[in-house]
Amino acid sequence: MDVIVIGGGIVGVATAYQLRAAGHRVCVVERHATVAQGATYGHGGIVLPTPLDAWFGPTFLGSRRGIVYRPGLNSSARRFAKQIAPLQAPDAFRAQWQRLRPLVELSRDAIASIEAGFHLEFEQREGVLHVTRDPREWEQAQSALELLGEFEMLHNVLSAAECAEVERSVPADPAFAGGVMFPQERTANCPLFTKLVKQVLDEQGGVQFLFGRAVESIRLENQRAAVELAPAESERKSTREVDVVSCDAIVVAAGAGSKPLLERLGLSLPFHPIRMLSLTSPIAYEECTPHLTVVDSVRRVSMTRMNQRIRVAGAAVLQPEREFAKPLSESLLEAGTALLAQSTHDWIPGAAKISAAHAWEGMRLLSPDGLPVVGNALHPRLFVNVGHGPAGWGLACGSAKVVSDLISGTPPSVPPDTLAALRVERFAS
Ligand SMILES: Cc1cc2nc3c(=O)[nH]c(=O)nc-3n(C[C@H](O)[C@H](O)[C@H](O)COP(=O)(O)OP(=O)(O)OC[C@H]3O[C@@H](n4cnc5c(N)ncnc54)[C@H](O)[C@@H]3O)c2cc1C
Repeated sequence: MDVIVIGGGIVGVATAYQLRAAGHRVCVVERHATVAQGATYGHGGIVLPTPLDAWFGPTFLGSRRGIVYRPGLNSSARRFAKQIAPLQAPDAFRAQWQRLRPLVELSRDAIASIEAGFHLEFEQREGVLHVTRDPREWEQAQSALELLGEFEMLHNVLSAAECAEVERSVPADPAFAGGVMFPQERTANCPLFTKLVKQVLDEQGGVQFLFGRAVESIRLENQRAAVELAPAESERKSTREVDVVSCDAIVVAAGAGSKPLLERLGLSLPFHPIRMLSLTSPIAYEECTPHLTVVDSVRRVSMTRMNQRIRVAGAAVLQPEREFAKPLSESLLEAGTALLAQSTHDWIPGAAKISAAHAWEGMRLLSPDGLPVVGNALHPRLFVNVGHGPAGWGLACGSAKVVSDLISGTPPSVPPDTLAALRVERFAS
């Protein structure tokens, strides 16, 4: 089949990879000049989510110290927080994680297969250490910790002294409640991985990348589907005409840009956009630099060494939806940057030269039940792969396989209740 994938972030590139592996011809349409320029660019480094990373459940919104802006009473953000709040209950969280987990494991296998098949090096490191200062917040995390045991995820619950022992950059003084070490969970460079997969696709052939072109709209007809492309930047003055490219199937994998495309087709998904910030900083003192990724669990800030830099990512900006069209205000940017700097100062003091850091912000979509939307939508020829929230990389490689299987008519290898929990129709009632 001829398949058009809209979006050249990790989700779109992973989808193109799986479709090509299944024997389809693929065209990836990306409005930027290359891949990995959206949310994928500033990625914090964590490859696969654990129950402690999930953006639903007992630790999400329990403490709002990682959220930069508290929305006003009537805002869409407030409504969104209310929608996701029931998943804080331990049983609801357990059931939702149970649905998500097969996708995480499928992603693990898919990444491993790409990595081994093409000998890719993308700054992989093993070992993630979550740390929590406040005993009450540590208490709140217990149901997530129980799940780690229940699902037999390799982890070690550590005292503060033990945390400082496994990661010398984390000071045991001032005192903190404890931490959880995931010795086998990994961090790596997601934009680099995305570019390497694109390079593999270039070398293999069968996937065309159409850069600098934005999809304006999607056309769905009985036998064929098509996208309308806005004129390229260089041609905008001379023509208003759009190019129409038809195909057998379309996959919408356009990150935050998916929402308007789907809304133009009459599909309004209840995603809430969330901005997140990252700081990429030179190393200040080599002996203070962590060899593990350290995650400030409560503020949800990850601190990852990437070669000679430290990537500090987090600081979710929760704001009313109408404000996302505008650039982030100076004051919110400052508040977010201060939050990231504070985590760095608290947990890996002396490691990062924050005064010389490069700040970046990206947007991603979060769904009110914490899971992405993956599968067929509206028409037999339209598929979506969106809303991966804070776990885009981890989930992308697995969700790409699910979409490719659905397009190929092959039963996906995740259980039916996971498939149902990912479908568009769950929001239809
Ligand atoms: C600061 C930050 C830190 C993060 N840290 C982590 C982490 O540690 N671990 C993790 O797993 N996840 C993390 N995430 C989330 C992860 O980065 C995202 O979930 C993931 O990158 C989403 O990938 P995507 O391909 O859907 O979106 P994007 O990377 O945004 O790609 C979408 C692409 O579609 C293109 N596009 C949009 N509309 C159109 C159109 N109409 N026509 C053509 N092209 C279009 C855009 O230009 C863009 O390139 C983080 C996100 C941020 C912002």
